[in-house]
Amino acid sequence: MAAIPNPRGRSGADRSAAGPASVSPSTAPQSTFQLRIVMPDTATLPTGSANMPNSGKGKRAGNVRRPGNTLPAPGPSFRRLEPTPELLGQLRAESQRLESATPEEIIAWGVENYAPYFTMATAFGPEGCVILLMLAKIAPETYTFNLETGYQFRETLELRDRIAEKFGIEVDLLEPELSVAEYELLHDGPLYQTNPDQCCFDRKIKPLERAAQVMHAWMSGIRRDQSPDRARAAIVGWDKKFGLVKISPLANWTKKDVWKRITDEGIPYNPLHDQGFPSIGCWPCTRAVAEGETDDRAGRWSGNKKNECGLHTVEQDGSGI
Ligand code: SF4
Repeated sequence: MAAIPNPRGRSGADRSAAGPASVSPSTAPQSTFQLRIVMPDTATLPTGSANMPNSGKGKRAGNVRRPGNTLPAPGPSFRRLEPTPELLGQLRAESQRLESATPEEIIAWGVENYAPYFTMATAFGPEGCVILLMLAKIAPETYTFNLETGYQFRETLELRDRIAEKFGIEVDLLEPELSVAEYELLHDGPLYQTNPDQCCFDRKIKPLERAAQVMHAWMSGIRRDQSPDRARAAIVGWDKKFGLVKISPLANWTKKDVWKRITDEGIPYNPLHDQGFPSIGCWPCTRAVAEGETDDRAGRWSGNKKNECGLHTVEQDGSGI
């Protein structure tokens, strides 16, 4: 394989910055389930404003926070990658070559070339859970994070803990500068109601930019069959928006592939998927899909032309923006 040279090397010291070892996922029990699409259950949908920071929608039982791994602080020799013509050419060639690779091979390639400046952002969707379990086998020391906007469903945060307990991967909860209460006070109310783009920018994009400052590559669980925009996603590309190599190991997988792996390996998943939520984001901007709605993302920012939070928009050439 004509691997892209790792510009900062992969010293033992680099790897020693790693987190805890994982429990072997081979111990995962088998489980079976049926994904049901049901009419929206208004009982599960939020009713109050997030002005009520204790409204409970995003709070875990007992409001317990487990210590996760934390955003690494690279040494003084760390330099961010520059999108030189040479690097972009190498990424294009590798992306082409990896088209026929398995997700595990793609992840291993990312680890080989970019760890420890290699990370993964996850919202704990089915794809993210599958990748986390692959990481638990390949490189459990990888720094992984969730953009904890303060508006996530309790079930999502609990899933983070279930994954940590079962597979030993502690996903960091990367938070915005302001708490929900501070943010809503600043904007005279919940901004997701009036300006969701700004809300996503402040509570998702900015924290991701913080992580990008100390990374060379990030991995996401996007699939090409999720949306026309994502259909152009490269396996490996340059993410202009965040200045990172972006790796999408499941780009060629289908939804069926993802759920088969979840079933086969007993991977924990968000119980809201069994309640009509095929795609889950923040509770104020997510609803269950109705019967007959075939677009999995129909419940995201429903009634608004917005359909992406800005993390995974893809340019015509397949690179991220
Ligand atoms: Fe805000 Fe909604 Fe974006 Fe979450 S998804 S950050 S609540 S606008």
